[in-house]
Amino acid sequence: MTPLFSTAPVTDRVADGQSAVPVLELDRAARTYPGPPPIDALKPTTLVVAAGDYVAITGPSGSGKSTLLNLMGLLDRPTSGRVIVDGIDTSALSERDRTAMRGRRIGFVFQAFHLMPHRSAAENVALAGLYQKIPAHVRRNAAQEALALVGLVHRADALPTQLSGGERQRVAIARALATRPSLLLCDEPTGNLDTVATGALLDVLDDLNTRLGTTLLVITHDLSVAARSHRHISIRDGVLVPAD
Ligand code: ADP
Ligand code: MG
Repeated sequence: MTPLFSTAPVTDRVADGQSAVPVLELDRAARTYPGPPPIDALKPTTLVVAAGDYVAITGPSGSGKSTLLNLMGLLDRPTSGRVIVDGIDTSALSERDRTAMRGRRIGFVFQAFHLMPHRSAAENVALAGLYQKIPAHVRRNAAQEALALVGLVHRADALPTQLSGGERQRVAIARALATRPSLLLCDEPTGNLDTVATGALLDVLDDLNTRLGTTLLVITHDLSVAARSHRHISIRDGVLVPAD
């Protein structure tokens, strides 16, 4: 498998086995919203996600899923505790460095696919890495590789409106993969999909995890998604508990 942008493909990190640095660590990370009244949306939480893990987090509305996702994706900072990505403590970093880390190391997949409507599938995927100033020809090649990973090379020239919901989400996954992130962070990735498209998407995630060693963290309401993960954690009132 040719690496896309990164000089350290995910597969190498998996091959490292025991010595591999966790992709993500929450070290007593907590988030309180100031209010009034203040809300302890995430209680002090410790979580280690190793390279090659496939973690699902489920919980009811208001339990703290988005708060957790925002911390893990470096979109927000903990009120206390630390968020460590690829062994780097992000607490001390400037906003600029956090943005750079997010762009390089974390791939996001959301429920609403967020594709550009007038750009083809390949062009949408090739937008990944634009802000990291990766040259256009490199991004175009990476886009083709990433589309191949999700089984959509034959639809590279299609516009989002010409694709099914499931295909659009696979394009969104390809875009997230094109920068070779250490972690793929998915927020309700099957929320807009029917049962058949959900099954196909879960097959893609399985394949990425098994064949490429892509580290997956999926936040979901869907227990069929959680059932495919290797580790199912539930969140209640800002506290993580094993769900199995
Ligand atoms: P979920 O994504 O599981 O529905 P959230 O993480 O969005 O849960 O919210 C967890 C708790 O924090 C809820 O009680 C919610 O009302 C509260 N909350 C979320 N965001 C904010 C905010 N920006 N300011 C104040 N309270 C918030
Ligand atoms: Mg939410």
